[in-house]
Amino acid sequence: MKELLIAIDGPAGSGKSSVAQLVAKKLKLNYLDTGAMYRAVGIYLHSKNLSPSDDLSKALDEIEFFYNSGDLYLNGEKLKEQIRTAQAGKLASDFAVNPLVRLKLTEIQRNICKGGRFVVDGRDIGTVVLPNAQVKIFLTASFEERVRRRLKELCHKGVDLTFEEVAEQIRLRDEQDSKRSLAPLRPAEDAIVIDTTDKSIEEVVQEICDIVLRRMNCENDRC
Ligand code: C5P
Repeated sequence: MKELLIAIDGPAGSGKSSVAQLVAKKLKLNYLDTGAMYRAVGIYLHSKNLSPSDDLSKALDEIEFFYNSGDLYLNGEKLKEQIRTAQAGKLASDFAVNPLVRLKLTEIQRNICKGGRFVVDGRDIGTVVLPNAQVKIFLTASFEERVRRRLKELCHKGVDLTFEEVAEQIRLRDEQDSKRSLAPLRPAEDAIVIDTTDKSIEEVVQEICDIVLRRMNCENDRC
Protein backbone atom coordinates (compact mmCIF):
# COMPACT_ATOMS: atom_id res chain seq x y z
CA MET A 1 0.00 0.00 0.00
CA LYS A 2 1.09 3.57 -0.68
CA GLU A 3 2.91 5.56 2.01
CA LEU A 4 0.56 7.79 4.02
CA LEU A 5 1.90 10.15 6.69
CA ILE A 6 -0.24 12.36 8.90
CA ALA A 7 1.55 14.79 11.22
CA ILE A 8 -0.27 16.05 14.32
CA ASP A 9 1.62 18.70 16.30
CA GLY A 10 0.62 20.93 19.18
CA PRO A 11 1.44 22.11 22.71
CA ALA A 12 1.00 20.15 25.96
CA GLY A 13 -2.68 19.59 26.72
CA SER A 14 -3.91 20.33 23.20
CA GLY A 15 -5.26 16.77 23.07
CA LYS A 16 -2.93 15.61 20.33
CA SER A 17 -2.04 12.18 21.77
CA SER A 18 -5.65 11.11 22.37
CA VAL A 19 -6.74 12.53 19.03
CA ALA A 20 -3.82 11.02 17.09
CA GLN A 21 -4.43 7.55 18.56
CA LEU A 22 -8.13 7.65 17.68
CA VAL A 23 -7.49 8.95 14.16
CA ALA A 24 -5.00 6.11 13.62
CA LYS A 25 -7.51 3.55 14.91
CA LYS A 26 -10.35 4.89 12.77
CA LEU A 27 -8.31 5.04 9.59
CA LYS A 28 -6.47 1.76 10.34
CA LEU A 29 -3.06 3.43 10.37
CA ASN A 30 -0.07 2.95 12.68
CA TYR A 31 0.48 5.41 15.50
CA LEU A 32 3.85 6.85 16.55
CA ASP A 33 4.11 8.92 19.75
CA THR A 34 7.35 10.92 19.39
CA GLY A 35 6.85 12.59 22.79
CA ALA A 36 7.18 9.12 24.34
CA MET A 37 10.58 8.80 22.66
CA TYR A 38 11.81 12.14 24.06
CA ARG A 39 10.52 11.13 27.50
CA ALA A 40 12.26 7.73 27.40
CA VAL A 41 15.53 9.28 26.21
CA GLY A 42 15.31 11.98 28.91
CA ILE A 43 14.89 9.31 31.61
CA TYR A 44 17.70 7.20 30.11
CA LEU A 45 20.22 10.06 29.93
CA HIS A 46 19.27 11.30 33.40
CA SER A 47 19.81 7.76 34.78
CA LYS A 48 23.37 7.97 33.39
CA ASN A 49 23.88 11.17 35.41
CA LEU A 50 24.06 13.24 32.25
CA SER A 51 22.60 16.70 31.80
CA PRO A 52 21.43 18.42 28.58
CA SER A 53 24.61 20.54 28.26
CA ASP A 54 26.97 17.51 28.50
CA ASP A 55 28.53 15.78 25.50
CA LEU A 56 25.82 13.19 24.89
CA SER A 57 27.30 11.59 21.76
CA LYS A 58 28.55 8.37 23.40
CA ALA A 59 25.35 7.79 25.40
CA LEU A 60 23.21 8.51 22.32
CA ASP A 61 25.21 6.00 20.27
CA GLU A 62 24.09 3.32 22.73
CA ILE A 63 20.41 4.08 22.17
CA GLU A 64 18.33 1.91 19.88
CA PHE A 65 14.59 2.12 19.36
CA PHE A 66 12.39 -0.62 18.03
CA TYR A 67 8.79 -0.07 16.91
CA ASN A 68 6.27 -2.89 16.76
CA SER A 69 2.53 -2.37 16.17
CA GLY A 70 2.30 0.82 18.22
CA ASP A 71 4.69 -0.32 20.96
CA LEU A 72 8.09 1.32 21.38
CA TYR A 73 11.17 -0.34 22.88
CA LEU A 74 14.33 1.44 24.03
CA ASN A 75 17.30 -0.93 24.02
CA GLY A 76 14.92 -3.89 24.10
CA GLU A 77 12.78 -2.57 26.96
CA LYS A 78 9.17 -1.67 26.30
CA LEU A 79 8.26 1.91 27.25
CA LYS A 80 5.95 1.84 30.25
CA GLU A 81 3.68 4.17 32.23
CA GLN A 82 6.63 5.73 34.11
CA ILE A 83 7.36 7.87 31.04
CA ARG A 84 4.04 9.66 31.70
CA THR A 85 5.08 11.43 34.92
CA ALA A 86 5.53 15.21 35.14
CA GLN A 87 9.23 14.62 35.90
CA ALA A 88 9.64 12.59 32.69
CA GLY A 89 7.91 15.39 30.76
CA LYS A 90 10.32 17.93 32.22
CA LEU A 91 13.36 15.73 31.45
CA ALA A 92 12.07 15.24 27.88
CA SER A 93 11.69 18.98 27.39
CA ASP A 94 15.10 19.73 28.97
CA PHE A 95 17.00 17.20 26.81
CA ALA A 96 14.95 18.07 23.70
CA VAL A 97 16.93 21.34 23.35
CA ASN A 98 20.14 19.37 22.70
CA PRO A 99 20.87 19.22 18.93
CA LEU A 100 22.34 15.69 19.08
CA VAL A 101 19.23 14.36 20.84
CA ARG A 102 17.01 15.94 18.17
CA LEU A 103 19.19 14.68 15.33
CA LYS A 104 19.18 11.14 16.70
CA LEU A 105 15.43 10.99 17.33
CA THR A 106 14.52 12.69 14.05
CA GLU A 107 16.51 10.07 12.14
CA ILE A 108 14.93 7.18 14.06
CA GLN A 109 11.43 8.60 13.60
CA ARG A 110 11.95 9.01 9.84
CA ASN A 111 13.22 5.43 9.56
CA ILE A 112 10.24 4.04 11.46
CA CYS A 113 7.80 5.90 9.18
CA LYS A 114 9.59 5.30 5.88
CA GLY A 115 7.24 3.76 3.33
CA GLY A 116 4.60 3.17 6.02
CA ARG A 117 1.13 4.45 6.90
CA PHE A 118 1.38 6.45 10.12
CA VAL A 119 -0.23 9.08 12.28
CA VAL A 120 2.67 10.75 14.09
CA ASP A 121 2.24 13.19 16.95
CA GLY A 122 4.80 15.60 18.40
CA ARG A 123 6.04 19.17 18.24
CA ASP A 124 8.13 19.27 15.04
CA ILE A 125 6.63 16.54 12.87
CA GLY A 126 5.14 18.78 10.17
CA THR A 127 8.06 21.23 10.21
CA VAL A 128 11.15 19.01 10.57
CA VAL A 129 10.62 15.24 10.87
CA LEU A 130 8.13 14.70 8.03
CA PRO A 131 8.01 17.89 5.95
CA ASN A 132 6.45 15.85 3.11
CA ALA A 133 3.59 14.44 5.21
CA GLN A 134 0.39 14.37 3.11
CA VAL A 135 -1.65 15.94 5.93
CA LYS A 136 -0.38 18.29 8.64
CA ILE A 137 -2.55 19.26 11.57
CA PHE A 138 -1.66 21.70 14.36
CA LEU A 139 -3.91 21.43 17.41
CA THR A 140 -4.32 24.33 19.82
CA ALA A 141 -6.56 25.10 22.78
CA SER A 142 -6.77 27.99 25.23
CA PHE A 143 -4.23 27.91 28.07
CA GLU A 144 -6.98 27.44 30.73
CA GLU A 145 -8.53 24.54 28.81
CA ARG A 146 -5.16 22.83 28.39
CA VAL A 147 -4.52 23.15 32.15
CA ARG A 148 -8.02 21.79 32.92
CA ARG A 149 -7.43 18.77 30.65
CA ARG A 150 -4.03 17.99 32.17
CA LEU A 151 -5.48 18.37 35.68
CA LYS A 152 -8.29 15.91 34.83
CA GLU A 153 -5.78 13.42 33.39
CA LEU A 154 -3.60 13.67 36.52
CA CYS A 155 -6.63 13.35 38.80
CA HIS A 156 -7.56 10.06 37.03
CA LYS A 157 -4.05 8.83 37.79
CA GLY A 158 -4.46 9.78 41.46
CA VAL A 159 -1.96 12.66 41.27
CA ASP A 160 -3.06 15.51 43.51
CA LEU A 161 -1.96 18.89 42.13
CA THR A 162 -3.66 22.30 42.17
CA PHE A 163 -4.76 24.24 39.06
CA GLU A 164 -1.93 26.72 39.73
CA GLU A 165 0.72 24.00 39.98
CA VAL A 166 -0.33 22.38 36.70
CA ALA A 167 -0.61 25.82 35.06
CA GLU A 168 2.98 26.55 36.05
CA GLN A 169 4.21 23.20 34.62
CA ILE A 170 2.44 23.84 31.30
CA ARG A 171 3.59 27.46 31.14
CA LEU A 172 7.23 26.39 31.59
CA ARG A 173 6.90 23.61 29.00
CA ASP A 174 5.25 25.97 26.47
CA GLU A 175 8.03 28.47 26.95
CA GLN A 176 10.83 25.92 26.64
CA ASP A 177 9.27 24.14 23.62
CA SER A 178 8.43 27.26 21.63
CA LYS A 179 11.53 29.31 22.42
CA ARG A 180 14.25 26.72 21.70
CA SER A 181 16.32 27.59 18.64
CA LEU A 182 16.17 24.11 17.10
CA ALA A 183 12.81 22.75 15.86
CA PRO A 184 10.67 25.02 18.06
CA LEU A 185 6.99 24.28 18.48
CA ARG A 186 5.15 26.06 15.66
CA PRO A 187 2.69 25.15 12.91
CA ALA A 188 4.14 24.24 9.51
CA GLU A 189 3.19 26.76 6.82
CA ASP A 190 0.95 24.17 5.18
CA ALA A 191 -0.59 22.88 8.43
CA ILE A 192 -4.31 23.08 9.14
CA VAL A 193 -4.74 24.69 12.58
CA ILE A 194 -7.62 23.36 14.66
CA ASP A 195 -8.63 25.10 17.89
CA THR A 196 -9.99 22.31 20.10
CA THR A 197 -11.03 24.52 23.07
CA ASP A 198 -14.78 24.07 22.61
CA LYS A 199 -14.72 20.76 20.77
CA SER A 200 -15.03 17.19 22.01
CA ILE A 201 -12.31 14.66 21.17
CA GLU A 202 -14.79 12.88 18.88
CA GLU A 203 -15.49 16.09 16.94
CA VAL A 204 -11.78 16.77 16.41
CA VAL A 205 -11.11 13.16 15.38
CA GLN A 206 -13.96 13.31 12.85
CA GLU A 207 -12.73 16.64 11.48
CA ILE A 208 -9.23 15.24 10.92
CA CYS A 209 -10.50 11.98 9.40
CA ASP A 210 -12.63 14.02 6.97
CA ILE A 211 -9.60 16.13 6.02
CA VAL A 212 -7.49 12.99 5.41
CA LEU A 213 -10.18 11.22 3.38
CA ARG A 214 -10.84 14.35 1.29
CA ARG A 215 -7.12 14.68 0.60
CA MET A 216 -6.78 10.99 -0.35
CA ASN A 217 -9.82 11.06 -2.66
CA CYS A 218 -8.45 14.20 -4.19
CA GLU A 219 -5.12 12.47 -4.86
CA ASN A 220 -6.85 9.45 -6.39
CA ASP A 221 -8.98 11.71 -8.62
CA ARG A 222 -5.92 13.88 -9.29
CA CYS A 223 -7.93 17.02 -8.48
O1 C5P B 1 4.14 15.21 23.91
P1 C5P B 1 4.85 15.01 25.23
O2 C5P B 1 4.31 15.85 26.34
O3 C5P B 1 4.92 13.57 25.59
O4 C5P B 1 6.36 15.49 24.95
C1 C5P B 1 7.28 15.67 25.99
C2 C5P B 1 8.32 16.69 25.56
O5 C5P B 1 9.16 16.13 24.54
C3 C5P B 1 7.79 17.97 24.95
O6 C5P B 1 7.46 18.94 25.92
C4 C5P B 1 8.94 18.43 24.07
O7 C5P B 1 9.89 19.16 24.79
C5 C5P B 1 9.58 17.12 23.63
N1 C5P B 1 9.19 16.77 22.27
C6 C5P B 1 9.85 17.36 21.23
N2 C5P B 1 9.58 17.00 19.94
C7 C5P B 1 8.65 16.08 19.69
C8 C5P B 1 7.93 15.46 20.73
C9 C5P B 1 8.22 15.85 22.03
O8 C5P B 1 10.71 18.22 21.44
N3 C5P B 1 8.43 15.71 18.41
